[in-house]
Amino acid sequence: NPVVGVLALQGDVREHLVALAATDAVARPVRRPEELDGIDGLVIPGGESTTISKLAVLFGVLDPLRARVRAGLPVYGTCAGMILLADKILDPRSGQETVGGIDMIVRRNAFGRQNESFEAAVDVRGVAGDPVQGVFIRAPWVESVGGAVEVLAEHDGHIVAVRQGDVLATSFHPELTGDHRVHALFVDMVRARAKADAL
Ligand code: GLN
Repeated sequence: NPVVGVLALQGDVREHLVALAATDAVARPVRRPEELDGIDGLVIPGGESTTISKLAVLFGVLDPLRARVRAGLPVYGTCAGMILLADKILDPRSGQETVGGIDMIVRRNAFGRQNESFEAAVDVRGVAGDPVQGVFIRAPWVESVGGAVEVLAEHDGHIVAVRQGDVLATSFHPELTGDHRVHALFVDMVRARAKADAL
């Protein structure tokens, strides 16, 4: 079964470990660079993107992670994790770096004060059945995407889920709902990639 790490520097790590364990993946926390070895995929959780990026530098995991993503490691980021997977942040805080991987520009805290946290049904391409219940918490949206990016979902006219190759990102938090279909979609991507690499 695929081994999927969760970047465990800050944020809702435990919720992702639980969601992944509900699929057929083997889930484990990843904090140090050497823990990147032996994983088939990685989740970057929600939390605070500047904090995660600064801790990633401090733990020496940012550069190795960038290299692995460039080499094709499947990654899924939720909310702050989406911000970390953006090639560009519209309004970065000072010292805020990204891992990159998706040719997109994200806007942090995009849904604004009136609407800091809310839930909405979201149709996600690739997820069969009912819409996904999207939990948005000071969520980013995607301002613009390059040609290689597939838009998987929109809310209120704004892009909230994207995929480029084996890198997946959502503005919202499927790990908080008990509905594991988005995690299952990601684990399918991880499995397909591991199979292709083994050929
Ligand atoms: N607003 C946070 C950030 O900029 C993200 C919030 C979240 O992950 N729920 O990192």
